[in-house]
Amino acid sequence: MRVQRGDTKEPLQISTISFDGDMTLWDFYKVMRHSLKQTLAELQKQVPTPRALRLTIDAMIAIRDRLAEEVKGEVWSLLEIRQRAFERTLEHVGHPDKELAAHLNAIYRKHRYGDIELYPDVIPTFDALAPHFKLGLLSNGNTYPENCGLDGRFAFVVFSQDVQVEKPDPKIFQITAERASCDLTEMLHVGDSLENDVMGAKNVGAHTVWLNRESVANNTETQPDYEVASLAEIPEILGLRRKNKTCQ
Ligand SMILES: [Mg+2]
Repeated sequence: MRVQRGDTKEPLQISTISFDGDMTLWDFYKVMRHSLKQTLAELQKQVPTPRALRLTIDAMIAIRDRLAEEVKGEVWSLLEIRQRAFERTLEHVGHPDKELAAHLNAIYRKHRYGDIELYPDVIPTFDALAPHFKLGLLSNGNTYPENCGLDGRFAFVVFSQDVQVEKPDPKIFQITAERASCDLTEMLHVGDSLENDVMGAKNVGAHTVWLNRESVANNTETQPDYEVASLAEIPEILGLRRKNKTCQ
């Protein structure tokens, strides 16, 4: 589809839109903290020691993040990292137990996927865009479409843990364009991260939308082609008229 940009006479030829997942289509931190809260309650029920009772969600996040940094480039499966993080958490409270870690991981996963909520602008925006563009998901996370109510919505999906390279590396954008059967110059990438999404996509010649839901200042040198506070602004940017008021 030809899209006339407001600041130039040169029309854009966009055929494909790739979306980031975490914090773009759903609030990952909210569901992650909620899931850890349920898991922590089970851990403290199973291990009611003073050290376990002093454990906090923030400490669990720190243990997981430290581990992820240690195994960066070696372990790509985020579920495996999470499992190991629970093992390490139990070691941290003086109660090493791999079986209990697996049980905690199962509880975490149940809530992590079962309780995820899409932002309210996702479905109306996809409905508006789908007849005109090929839509896809490009994520450094591990929420697959079938786990978040978006099954059948995407023509292509690319997850860093599957292709073993992550945004902002140019390779993952090239893989995405191949899966979408389009040229990178025909692709618009939408995401909340200036580094991973905007800079990554710009570096390979794709067009970019920075989703800035909280209207934070951009203090970087990375400039997106478009900045939006809601996904609902995207159809209009691409020259589609709003057909219903729910898409706002
Ligand atoms: Mg994101």
